[in-house]
Amino acid sequence: MASAEPAPGRTPALPEVFGHVDARQALAAAARDGRLPRSLLLRGPRGVGKQRLAHWTAQLLLCADPGPSGPCEACRECRLVRRIEHPGVHWTIPLEKPKSRGSAERNEEALEDARIRWIEEARTRPWRASHQEGMRALHLGTIRNLRRRILRGGSGAGPRVFIVSDAEELVVQEASQEAANALLKVLEEPPEDVWIILTSSQPGRLLDTIRSRCTALHLSPLPLDETARILREEVGVDDDEALRAARLSGGAPGVALGFVEGWSDADGMGPLEALRRDSFHLLRASLSDGDGARFRKAVDYPAFGGRGLLDLLAFLELWLRDLAAVMAGNPDRVRNTDALEWLERQGRSGRLHPAGPSRSLVALEDARTRAQGNVNPQLLVLGLLRQLNRTLVVPSGPALPDAD
Ligand SMILES: [Zn+2]
Repeated sequence: MASAEPAPGRTPALPEVFGHVDARQALAAAARDGRLPRSLLLRGPRGVGKQRLAHWTAQLLLCADPGPSGPCEACRECRLVRRIEHPGVHWTIPLEKPKSRGSAERNEEALEDARIRWIEEARTRPWRASHQEGMRALHLGTIRNLRRRILRGGSGAGPRVFIVSDAEELVVQEASQEAANALLKVLEEPPEDVWIILTSSQPGRLLDTIRSRCTALHLSPLPLDETARILREEVGVDDDEALRAARLSGGAPGVALGFVEGWSDADGMGPLEALRRDSFHLLRASLSDGDGARFRKAVDYPAFGGRGLLDLLAFLELWLRDLAAVMAGNPDRVRNTDALEWLERQGRSGRLHPAGPSRSLVALEDARTRAQGNVNPQLLVLGLLRQLNRTLVVPSGPALPDAD
């Protein structure tokens, strides 16, 4: 933890805040009047900048010289928050379950070590692609650590801000009720000078009791051209790639990064681009005449860990929406523009039910709900693909163009 004066010239770990002007105005006005809610929920699609805005809100509370529209960005406090080094800002994120399965205390220590390593890593990367990284959750041990830090009290040196990212990950685990109760107690009555900021891209999955104790602020996607500009100017992505990624992300810069070639991961493909392509093969298998393609696709996945499928199924939804768009005569709404021709060929084939893509979204939603529980991904995928086939394809119609 940096206690020395930060050097003004050092690169901040967090980029500036882009967009969300209304939300920032509302937060700045509330902070100025001393009525910023003590338990806040920032909700909105993944990758729109919720973590950054949570830290910006922490800056608002800690800044030595805040202006009418926000923190000064120049004082020591602002610089420390931007570098994720401020001792008054505590960031809790979902983590993978620690390998050591010793006592509760040992698990809590392992989770705290993992949290610190995650933050050290975040400090070195101002821009990170937002995507599900393995089987992460807010484990009971993490929440106990958080609660202990909140209750321990500060140094009396000013506000303390506790940011809890992806708060919906609290509910999909064993002992979740105990973890939820531990969090509820502090949300209900935060100690003096404590602010708690939860973020969630799936607020519907939050426990009602948690949601009802927070003041919610919704963040909308950014305009696509603004998203593309951020990728170009902040990250150095070239024009075409920036526009393509912005469009696929629907206006979420953090998600857009996941589509950029060469941005992360060893094989050069962004982590979300790999998922997008994989989900395209799911769609193709669901349209295939024979069940063999569906079976072969299903066994591509592991036999356990259904939650690993959530991102994949989200992309499958995007493909089904694109198919629905071309079949309704709205090709301009297609997000997977690189496959527009293929989508239009399927739409024209006369082999698909006109309302099939829309109806299939119900089956998909059901699969996504089940993926959050303890299911076998192979069985889930096989069942879903068969269901989609029945919903999408007219039996014994003309052959589909290259659906296999
Ligand atoms: Zn400041």
